Amino acid sequence: MIPGWASKMTRFVMALDQGTTSSRAILFGRDGSVAAEDQHEFPQHFPRPGWVEHDPLEIWESQLRAARGVLAKARVAADEVAAIGITNQRETTVVWDRASGEPIHRAIVWQSRQTAAICDELRSRGLEDEVRKRTGLVIDAYFSATKIRFILDAVEGAQQRAERGELAFGTIDSWLLYKLTGGRVHATEVSNASRTLIYNIHEREWDDRLLGELRIPRAMLPEVRDSSGSFGVADSDWLGAEIPIAGIAGDQQAALFGQGCTQPGLAKNTYGTGCFLLMNTGEDAHVSRSGLITTIAWSIGGRVEYALEGSVFVAGAAIQWLRDGIGLIENARDSEASARSVSDTGGVYLVPAFVGLGAPYWDERARGAIVGITRGTTRDHIVRAALESIAYQTRDVVECVRADSGLELDVLRVDGGAAQNEFLMQFQADILGAPVERPPVLEVTALGAALLAGLGVGFWSDRAELEAVGAGAQRFEPTLDAGRREALYASWKRAVERSRNWEQD
Ligand code: ADP
Repeated sequence: MIPGWASKMTRFVMALDQGTTSSRAILFGRDGSVAAEDQHEFPQHFPRPGWVEHDPLEIWESQLRAARGVLAKARVAADEVAAIGITNQRETTVVWDRASGEPIHRAIVWQSRQTAAICDELRSRGLEDEVRKRTGLVIDAYFSATKIRFILDAVEGAQQRAERGELAFGTIDSWLLYKLTGGRVHATEVSNASRTLIYNIHEREWDDRLLGELRIPRAMLPEVRDSSGSFGVADSDWLGAEIPIAGIAGDQQAALFGQGCTQPGLAKNTYGTGCFLLMNTGEDAHVSRSGLITTIAWSIGGRVEYALEGSVFVAGAAIQWLRDGIGLIENARDSEASARSVSDTGGVYLVPAFVGLGAPYWDERARGAIVGITRGTTRDHIVRAALESIAYQTRDVVECVRADSGLELDVLRVDGGAAQNEFLMQFQADILGAPVERPPVLEVTALGAALLAGLGVGFWSDRAELEAVGAGAQRFEPTLDAGRREALYASWKRAVERSRNWEQD
């Protein structure tokens, strides 16, 4: 806690939610309600197919505009804000010059595949097991370390400058913190560090072996701090008064916290373009045998909690495809009425393996399939099958989480755009055989960052007080009998088999 700040007459906590396509700022009141929100998109850069980059200065400017915008909208002065919390697109990598504060290259975004060759090279050195053991991750272009290597190779002289300590690396949280504090702080926090592929999640320090393999100089790395506590103070130049920055977490971890999944066994699933499912596993870092990732959820007061994470590549995107790809619906919301107009899919299964399949199949060659079509199949059956596929894929990940953690899933907490679909939420409860809970505020990612920050300055006193924040969830109880549930799921697995190993070179 930072003494002095909590006693001021502050009424709000500001969350900065720096996402992949836009930067948002949200002001939360003491009761966890949203007082105001502002959002600004920023440009995406696609230098080559499969490459995605952001301009770090455009990120910073859009984020600052949102922070100023939200204060103006709410007519709130900066000295009424107790603290700032940051949540961010994870893994995206920035390298900047410490003296000038100028980035030396565009940020390489998590989605970007431009470091696939560096990953191949690491795999060919047989490092996969070492990487999993130390970082909980798999070798993939998704994570930050190979992006750092790429930038140090792409910019002439960068390797030497990094070795001399003239360059700084940061994920987006670290970059925003650096800018907000006027260049005084170069730090990050554990949940973000755990996505870099060079952070040992057990020892909780940068991993010398992996740094050596990638020739990444320690001198460019940020200090790693707890998720809640003191990160520094935002310059009064930016918002009109100094505001402590007191909470940071990567977006999925912030959502886990915002959903109140603070006990082992509690899990949340975010239904967006894809799905991100995280289960809190407490102080135990479970190593996955089914292709999930082990990650740090957060660290508070020096106590680290871990999570298992599984993702589904195509979830809400399957509904976008129904709309834009084959024109079966006019907008995403129409999918609900369409699905409800039939009593079941008539035996139709849609496997949206548009970009292959993730856990537990890990099949890059799988492609989408619609099976079980008969003369009686209608548009509505196919729409319903697409929605159901989101729930089946989530069950696939839940099965992995259950197996890896040995923990039962008593309830699944949900958020994200497609969680608005009540047919989907009910079917999810039915196919899991476990209740699904949807909070009244779907802004759980920003709420999580705000809570971490509010705890950090004593705006909220402890976790018990936080339980009340976001109370009043809507609950979907499973209604399907176990026999029918397992029969449907078994047919889903058969449908998945039909989609597998399809693409041939
Ligand atoms: P992201 O953050 O990944 O962009 P969002 O959380 O904004 O995603 O959710 C958008 C996704 O949710 C889209 O893929 C859209 O097709 C899907 N979606 C939105 N509303 C509905 C709905 N009522 N039913 C089903 N899917 C929906």
